[in-house]
Amino acid sequence: MDLDDVDPTARTGNVATLFDETAAHHGDAQAMEHHGERTTHAELRDRTAAFAGGLHELGLAPGDRMLLFLPNCPEYLVASLGAFRAGVVFSPVNPQYKRREVAYQLADADATAIVTHPLLREVVDEALEDTDREPAVVTIESELADRDPDDVFFEDVSGEPTLVERTDDDVALLPYTSGTTGDPKGVQLTHRNTRAQMSWPLTSSNVDVEGEDVRSLVWLPLYHITGFTHTALQPLVGGGSLYFRSALEWDARECMQLIEDEEITHFVGVTTMYADMVEAEGFGEYDLSSLESASEGGAKLSTAVQERFEETAGVDISEGYGLTETHGATHTQLGSSFGLRHGTIGQPLRMTDCKIVDESGDEVASGEEGELLVRGPQVMTGYHDMPEATEAAFTENGYFRTGDIARRDENNYYEIVDRKKHVIVSAGYNVYPSELEALLLEHEAVADVAVIGVPDDRRNEVPKAFVVPGAGVDPGADVTADELKRYSLDRVAEYKHPREVEFIDELPRTTSGKVQKYKLEANEV
Ligand code: AMP
Repeated sequence: MDLDDVDPTARTGNVATLFDETAAHHGDAQAMEHHGERTTHAELRDRTAAFAGGLHELGLAPGDRMLLFLPNCPEYLVASLGAFRAGVVFSPVNPQYKRREVAYQLADADATAIVTHPLLREVVDEALEDTDREPAVVTIESELADRDPDDVFFEDVSGEPTLVERTDDDVALLPYTSGTTGDPKGVQLTHRNTRAQMSWPLTSSNVDVEGEDVRSLVWLPLYHITGFTHTALQPLVGGGSLYFRSALEWDARECMQLIEDEEITHFVGVTTMYADMVEAEGFGEYDLSSLESASEGGAKLSTAVQERFEETAGVDISEGYGLTETHGATHTQLGSSFGLRHGTIGQPLRMTDCKIVDESGDEVASGEEGELLVRGPQVMTGYHDMPEATEAAFTENGYFRTGDIARRDENNYYEIVDRKKHVIVSAGYNVYPSELEALLLEHEAVADVAVIGVPDDRRNEVPKAFVVPGAGVDPGADVTADELKRYSLDRVAEYKHPREVEFIDELPRTTSGKVQKYKLEANEV
C-alpha cells in the first residue's frame, strides 16, 4: 500500500484517515519531540501504518482488544494511532497501576495483547500470574536483559502498512472509569466519537489548536482521556507537535522552564498543577508568554489559583469540563461567546445538547441546580459488556447522565456545583470509594469500611476511610491506621490510598443498609 495514494477525503469511518490528512498537509513538520529525537508527521504516519500491519501479523484481528500500559512517550501515539488503523481496540491502563488493577482490566477487556514499558514489565508479569489469559506482551525497548527469547519488542511489530475500514459505530478505544457507580467499566468510544473530538479544533473557534506552530506539552497522563484527546490528538491532528513528560515525574519548575525553552503554545493541566506552579520558587521569573492556550479540565479549578496564575503569568486559564464517557470535553470557555468567565466551565461545544434536570427528570429554570445531561457525537455508545449499567447511564431520549450537579446562567454558561455520584477526584485522578472499600475489606482486621473524600488544599480532595475493626481486634494495637495505608499502597495506585484512616464502632446506615455517607462527611459519627 502506497500511503501517499491514500485519499484522505474518501472518509471511511476509521478516524486514522484524519491523521493521513494531517500527514498529507504537514508531512515535513515536526509531530513529536522526545529527548532530542524528532519525528515528522509523515514519519509518524509511516510508523503507525507499519505498526498496524504488525498487529495483524501478531494475530490480532479487527475488533480485538489490546491494553496500552505505558507512560507518556512517542510510542504511545504510534501504538494508539496504529491500533485505530488496524481496527484493534486499545484500552489504556494507568502506569501507576499495580498487579490487581492490571489483572482486572486485562480480564474485563478480554485483551489479547498488552503493550508495555520495561519499567512496568514486572507488574505485567505479576498480573499475568493472576489470570489464565496469555496475551502477547510487547515491550517498547529491546535493551531488556535476561528476557525470554520469545519476547516481542515494539520495533518488531511491523508489517505491511494497513488501514482497515471501520464504521462510525465501531469501537476505537476502551478507557476504564467507574461511571456514576460500582466497579471500573470499559467505556466504548467509537471512531465517530474520536472523529468528533478531532473535528472541532479544525472547524470551529471552540478550541484554538490548529497549525504547525502549535507546540503542546503532554504532561497530563495519556491513559486519561483529557491528556489523550486534548494534549495529544487535537494538537497533532491540526499539524502541531507534542513534547512529552511523564505524569509520574511532575515538577512545576521544570514545567515552566520547558514552556519557556520550547516556547510551548498549548498546555492543559489540572488545578493541582497550576497550584504547584504559583507556589513554586521563582514563579513570575519564567517567561510563559508563548502560551496561547492554558486550559484546565478534569476537576474544578480553584479561582484563587487561577487569579494568581493569570496575574503573574499574564496568561488566562480556560476551564473546561468533560468525562471519559464523552471522550473529553463537552464544555469549554475557549471560544465561548462572551469570553472567559471565572468559576464556570464555559458553554457547550457545537452539536452538544445539554439539559439540567431535577430528580423527576424535568428541566429546571436557569440559575437552578440539577443533574447535567449531555447528548452529542462525542458521547460513548455504552459500557463494555454491561448492558444494565449502559441502560442506567442514558435517559429515554439518549441523553447521558453525567452524575454532576450543574447550574446554567442566562448566557448559557455552565457551572459545576456538586457531584451526585460517589467519585473522589484527587489532583485530577479518580478514586472510586467502592474499589478502595472492597480492597480494605479483604484485610483480615477490617469488618466494615466506608470511604469518602475530604477537602484538601492542594489535591482538591483526598480519600478518607472510616474503618470498623473486626471483633476482638484492637485498633492501634492489632491494626494501625499506618498499616492500612501501607496495605493499600502496596496494592493500588499511590493516589488511591486513604490518606486518613479513622476507626469507628459502627457505620451510620439507613434501614435498608445503605451507608449514610453524608453523616460521615458532616462528621456526625
Ligand atoms: P473522568 O471520567 O475521569 O474524566 O472524570 C469526569 C468527572 O470529573 C466529571 O464527571 C466531574 O465530576 C469531574 N470534572 C471534570 N471537569 C471538571 C470541572 N471543570 N469542574 C468540576 N468537576 C469536573
